[in-house]
Amino acid sequence: MPSRTSHAPGVRRPDVPVAVVTGGARGIGLAIAERFLAEGHRVALLDIDRKTLRATERRLRDPDRVLALVCDVSNQEQVKPAIRRVAKAFGRIDALVNNAGIAIFKPVHETKLAEWQRVLAVNLGGAFICTQACAPVMMKNGGAVVNIASISGLRASTLRVAYGTSKAALIHLTKQYAAELGTVGIRVNCVAPGPVDTAMAKLVHSVAIRQDYYDTIPLNRYGTPEEIAAAVFFLCSHEASYINGQTLAADGGFEALGVGLPTLRNQFNPMRERRKPK
Ligand code: NAD
Repeated sequence: MPSRTSHAPGVRRPDVPVAVVTGGARGIGLAIAERFLAEGHRVALLDIDRKTLRATERRLRDPDRVLALVCDVSNQEQVKPAIRRVAKAFGRIDALVNNAGIAIFKPVHETKLAEWQRVLAVNLGGAFICTQACAPVMMKNGGAVVNIASISGLRASTLRVAYGTSKAALIHLTKQYAAELGTVGIRVNCVAPGPVDTAMAKLVHSVAIRQDYYDTIPLNRYGTPEEIAAAVFFLCSHEASYINGQTLAADGGFEALGVGLPTLRNQFNPMRERRKPK
């Protein structure tokens, strides 16, 4: 059974929209939740990490608009009752953001079957389970689902056999759900972030890898959680009312790139040329 982290009654306000954000206790998920709150939504945070979730709930200090539930998104027996509690507390669901994810970066021959299965179960299975659970509630008013994939789902890279495959499959799952749920007024889209400075990135990106990212991203930097939240909020908003089944890469231009950027950048820097004195 999913457990609420503290006693904080949700207030029924049928006209106020509701967003469910998985993996919302920290990082990109938390920034997404904060964006929805800033835009006047009520928010349900689903996360497996009880301690961080409780700390986040305390920090947000908004018990009327924030419902925090401990829940493993890969476990249907936990997700179903959690979504029932969201529907009971808030009366509606307008947006679902499938953000919860884990990263295990290992060479193919070192990746254990159990690790492969866990990454697929959380990153792909979690989105399947949560969308299936939320869709019947969302159908009442229409709504939007956004899946958080990754540049690793668009481009292959070393050490990402499980992670990259899970995110590539999530991009296709987005289209499958868009095809079926579009007919009942639910749009399903995907955001594929490039590197974003979060606890997950700190765990798996060494200093050398960080430098490589800077070299190969035209914008020359990591993204921020708030920039990813902006893309997600746009796709959930009325501004995106005819966008369905798409993947938006929020990656500083990483995915658009071919070979040679660092070399060419050293040879020709348009900003430096422009600044030359006449
Ligand atoms: P993070 O590790 O900081 O946060 C992930 C959150 O998901 C945590 O709160 C964690 O407890 C929760 N979570 C993990 N497994 C769960 C489960 N089974 N059930 C419920 N909650 C679970 O990660 P982040 O960097 O904020 O990443 C968020 C999403 O963005 C992930 O899907 C990740 O793959 C994706 N992403 C991140 C980056 C990056 O550079 N940080 C880049 C591309 C994509």
